[in-house]
Amino acid sequence: MKLYNIKDHTEQVSFAQAVKQGLGRGQGLFFPEQIQPFADIHGLLEKPFVERSVEILHHLIGDELTKAQLAQLVQTAFVFPAPLVKVSDNQYALELFHGPTLAFKDFGGRFMAQCLTAFSQGEKITILTATSGDTGAAVAHAFYGLPNIEVVILYPKGKISPLQEKLFCTLGGNIRTVAVDGAFDDCQALVKQAFDDEELKAAIGLNSANSINISRLLAQVCYYFEAVAELPLEQRAEAVIAVPSGNFGNLTAGLIAKALGLPVKRFVVATNANDTVPRYLAAGQWDPKTTVATLSNAMDVSRPNNWPRVEELFKVKGWSLSELGYGARDDVQTEDALKRLHAQGYLCEPHGAIAWDVLQAQLSDEEVGIFLCTAHPAKFQESVERILDLKLELPAPLAERADLPLLSDNLPVDFAAMRQYLLKA
Ligand SMILES: *Cc1c(COP(=O)(O)O)cnc(C)c1O
Repeated sequence: MKLYNIKDHTEQVSFAQAVKQGLGRGQGLFFPEQIQPFADIHGLLEKPFVERSVEILHHLIGDELTKAQLAQLVQTAFVFPAPLVKVSDNQYALELFHGPTLAFKDFGGRFMAQCLTAFSQGEKITILTATSGDTGAAVAHAFYGLPNIEVVILYPKGKISPLQEKLFCTLGGNIRTVAVDGAFDDCQALVKQAFDDEELKAAIGLNSANSINISRLLAQVCYYFEAVAELPLEQRAEAVIAVPSGNFGNLTAGLIAKALGLPVKRFVVATNANDTVPRYLAAGQWDPKTTVATLSNAMDVSRPNNWPRVEELFKVKGWSLSELGYGARDDVQTEDALKRLHAQGYLCEPHGAIAWDVLQAQLSDEEVGIFLCTAHPAKFQESVERILDLKLELPAPLAERADLPLLSDNLPVDFAAMRQYLLKA
């Protein structure tokens, strides 16, 4: 697989390089040189999820990994299903939260971890990341127990929910978690300083494993095929898919699936009050505002870092951005949507509820709508229980860890101290 840097087309890399490097020169994103449509989509849709995913990824990645190697990676990464749940005659929820950290990021995170391990060829890698809650858990679980990989996750002490902390600070082994006496921004600044320290970088093989990594997107392409495959045959041609979006990686993956020939009538972008993209699609002005905190906090992004990939794909395919549906919901509307969806018999959380609400508002009778449910309701326990006035049961991955001791270390906001900590791995 060949990829080029969107900001500088002369920089071309292999898939392995793109996975290890993350970003190109000038912070440019890597983009596939070719997305060749499948000849036989319907045959592909007949296959079981894991087998089909191996086909899709092999088609995209090519011979950098043998099919047998790739099958091994996919079987290890995709150990949970993505069920399509019927909500009404022409509306379905695609549940992407059945992985170990109860969010769709498990698909991309686990596949990226497998790819990095495969491409590291025994060199030691240290994954360093800062988290305000969710990404830390997905990274920790994805890399847990993998050889030659050390993971260090910084988080602001006392500023993440106790349950979130339990989910990734009780693993031990190759996962080190650090409660920093500061805010999330301090954690991020420490990580940035580490990546600017060339000597440290080389000594411990620093890698960020962040959300712009191309391997994540390729993994996510697979569940769009699964969504359509699970639809009744007669509904497959009319699918409209709504994606709750923050950094727009998930939407990018869906669009790649369409470019591969997956029959999707159109995509619908759904955001919260951080609505840079819906406003851009409506008025043609790219005008990010200050990010505001919302109930759907994983989408509290006003400068989405994957958007250049979306634009690039529309450009190379000759599609028009006017084909994208869009909508934004503030917190009051989100609460209302969550209640109406619950009244229809489906228990959701704020991100999925926004996608559903934007979808159902623009779905015609002959169309079939699929909205992506990106997190388990229990991940947003407090708001879901308050809004719907009910008690949620803790799902197994959370319940299992709730009573385990926290294994985190403590550090002040001090780069020298952190540097030393990183070196004594
Ligand atoms: C990360 C996340 C999103 C946003 O996904 P993007 O790919 O960044 O657009 C939506 N919902 C949840 C629950 C998330 O964790």
